[in-house]
Amino acid sequence: MIVQEVLERLREEIPKEEYDHFIRNLRFDGEQSKIDHIIFTAPNILLAKWIKTKYGKKLAQLFELKTGRETRVEIVPALPSQTPPDEHQKTSETHTERCSTKINPTYTFENFVVGSSNQFAYTASLSVAERPGKVYNPLFIYGGVGLGKTHLLHAIGNYNLQRGRVVIYVTIEQFMNDFTDHLRNQTIERFRDKYRECDILLIDDVQFLSGKERTQEEFFHTFNELHNAEKQIVLTSDKHPKEIVGLEDRLKSRFEWGLIADIQPPELETKIAIIKKKCELNKIELDNEIINYIATNMDSNIREIEGVINKLNAYSTLVNQKITLDLVKSVISEQRKEWQKSIQLKDIVQIVAAELNIKPSEIRSKSRSRRVVSARRIVIYLARNLTPNSMPALAQFFGMKDHTSVSHAMKKVKEQIKKDPKFRLMIEELEHKVKSNVNKCE
Ligand code: ADP
Ligand code: MG
Repeated sequence: MIVQEVLERLREEIPKEEYDHFIRNLRFDGEQSKIDHIIFTAPNILLAKWIKTKYGKKLAQLFELKTGRETRVEIVPALPSQTPPDEHQKTSETHTERCSTKINPTYTFENFVVGSSNQFAYTASLSVAERPGKVYNPLFIYGGVGLGKTHLLHAIGNYNLQRGRVVIYVTIEQFMNDFTDHLRNQTIERFRDKYRECDILLIDDVQFLSGKERTQEEFFHTFNELHNAEKQIVLTSDKHPKEIVGLEDRLKSRFEWGLIADIQPPELETKIAIIKKKCELNKIELDNEIINYIATNMDSNIREIEGVINKLNAYSTLVNQKITLDLVKSVISEQRKEWQKSIQLKDIVQIVAAELNIKPSEIRSKSRSRRVVSARRIVIYLARNLTPNSMPALAQFFGMKDHTSVSHAMKKVKEQIKKDPKFRLMIEELEHKVKSNVNKCE
């Protein structure tokens, strides 16, 4: 078959590594192709563009040699369902790994970049690590997504593992699953012993305790026993304990017994320093111009920034080329598109409804109450920025007259963002939540 023969020829002409990484990823689209118009699909837009630029001409020439006809070669990105596992999925895999009880050895105090946004949480974590059970108990760290809460928790864990102490790190969801498993297997005593025998208990994302009454009850007892025995407890959450809806008052008050430390989004300088640190750890070289570009063009979720750095690293190793600003721009825009593809309007509605304590169905209803109108506007604003939905599509979703109502909602939200810093923060936080919902641990 001609296509096979052409690819075979190309294989002889280019380095094996390049062939394996790029050309092997191509799928010939026999249905759409014609003798003088050959179409291949590549796993994603970036690869499609890349392969086209690098090998498009060569491929066309090889086809021409075989068929004797002038040939156009097109390389298009595969539809999402055909996409083989790519970088995006790899990042979520690593994220899932992070949700296991294992402590990540690279999340140390040394690898944590300190700036004014996280100074307080860092110092508090370090004091607790150095003198567990003696200074602040519990330590409660809260802040937005991807700002380093889990990193600090692991740093406390690593510090103490090195000193031979017994450390347990779990997300609150793992604690809950562990609890229900032991209940089912009638081994609840083993569960209790396990948690009560540790020196340091690190519990991630306690906001998910919300509404889980039986787990709250069990956790309340675990907390008391450890606290009485002067064992250190460290908790993280996306909110201040007072703001966790559906959390029993007795737990709220206990969470406030020790010290509460917040983490704010990093300012530009800290963001730059974090990027430099990640490059150093991953042995990647980036020009200052590129580092500045990433820091100014991506928002404060460091996990997302890391995703871009990892992709850049992958591409530059593959082609053994220096990373250029053009590549950076296309990787960032590719990442945005990936987010956009995976963000669903209904998820935005859910997230905004949960944050503002109203029912998702109210947001889509015709209600003109102030709270509902405001929530609806926020959903529209987020959907326009984070999904490919057009104004008419949104108008239809909300049963509005036409797109002018959507643009009015956008205008209102933008105005409020300008004049109300608290509102702006809330919107940023919601944006983080919507994005991290795509990649969250199940
Ligand atoms: P959170 O738990 O707050 O959502 P994580 O702790 O998972 O965020 O952080 C996301 C990623 O960003 C991690 O890989 C972490 O190492 C990195 N990160 C965040 N803040 C810093 C920092 N100040 N210095 C170095 N790395 C950071
Ligand atoms: Mg976390």
